[in-house]
Amino acid sequence: MPRGPQPAGFPEVGATNLSVVLRYMRAHMPCSRSDIAVATGLNKSTVSSLVADLIERRLLREIGFTEHRIGRPPTMLVLDGSPYAAIGLEVNDNLTAVAVDLAGEQILSWRRSFRGLESTPSQAATAIAALGRRAVNRLVKQGRHVLGLTIGVPGLVDPTGAVRLAANLGWRDIDLRDRLTRALGAPDYPVIVDNDANLAVIAESRYGEFAGTQNLVYLTGEVGIGAGIISGGRLIRGANGFPGEVGHLQVDPDGPVCGCGRSGCLESVASISALVAKALPDSANDGAVTDLAPEVAEVARRARAQDPTALKALTETGRALGHGVSILANLLDPEVVVLGGYFVPLARWLLPAAEAELHSRSVSAADARRIVASTLGHGAAATGAAATVLDHVDAGNLPNA
Ligand SMILES: [Zn+2]
Repeated sequence: MPRGPQPAGFPEVGATNLSVVLRYMRAHMPCSRSDIAVATGLNKSTVSSLVADLIERRLLREIGFTEHRIGRPPTMLVLDGSPYAAIGLEVNDNLTAVAVDLAGEQILSWRRSFRGLESTPSQAATAIAALGRRAVNRLVKQGRHVLGLTIGVPGLVDPTGAVRLAANLGWRDIDLRDRLTRALGAPDYPVIVDNDANLAVIAESRYGEFAGTQNLVYLTGEVGIGAGIISGGRLIRGANGFPGEVGHLQVDPDGPVCGCGRSGCLESVASISALVAKALPDSANDGAVTDLAPEVAEVARRARAQDPTALKALTETGRALGHGVSILANLLDPEVVVLGGYFVPLARWLLPAAEAELHSRSVSAADARRIVASTLGHGAAATGAAATVLDHVDAGNLPNA
């Protein structure tokens, strides 16, 4: 039986079969034409003409021969990275840009300060578009064709790319995709806006320590707390594209008021901003925090020095995170819950309390679930954003030859 992606029926045979070959190549390259034929069930002459088409479009290239095979060695094929670029941007307290080539190799990684937490949505959109334009220009100067640009935002993003609510950025009903498309000069590549946690869990499920895990939850530790959920190997999108609003689960009815207007949300007790406020009470009068990185570094420094206030704040935050994770765990039964962003440098203090709380609140007796820190760092959502651009190509939306 063929074990790879399966060939198409009669309609749209051409594009769909090109997609079958591309997806097979992404998982198994380098491989030969006959490897593709055997795995997909397409006949050899069909594979040869599909491969010729993909080579002409500069999506595949030949790399000579394999050794140690009997008879005339077959020519091997790989995805051709060099002519193309896929761009991912991430909006949080900083802006992150990542680009990968068609083969998935990272070719650009930028992190820029961003005044998004204190600027109007319009100013923020201008700053995001400016970074996107700089990345596009850099890649075009390298002779690359841009395949697409996807932007991750910490908030509710509807399927048209409008941000319905990003409480921590102070955005409500901002048509971000439209604004960016105009600012980029109505480009010929797709511009997509998605939720940052959705994109981060995609990156985690492909490139993280638990890549390939079929049931995985990722919690963002950026300006808010969002959950990206992969269940049964698929990203959960919900009815309106708004799942994973774990940050607004109420974990303490008497807790502080949240950015969403309700009280005691997970985000109001366990977000990085809430942690920083509790761990560094002496900095309360320093004004609004616009870049969390130095604050998080200071919390870690004090925790290493055994500062009791910092340690207490970390334990309380870990416990609240464990409470939030227990709700997700009882609902979704994930194999692993990954903490990302600023939770990562604080994980050694957060995880013990979080795991203890999770286990005390879990219904499942044989609880092998784990909470771990991401190995992908701050670029996770941007990396996932770039990966979704490649998915779009692999699905058969090919650039012109
Ligand atoms: Zn809330």
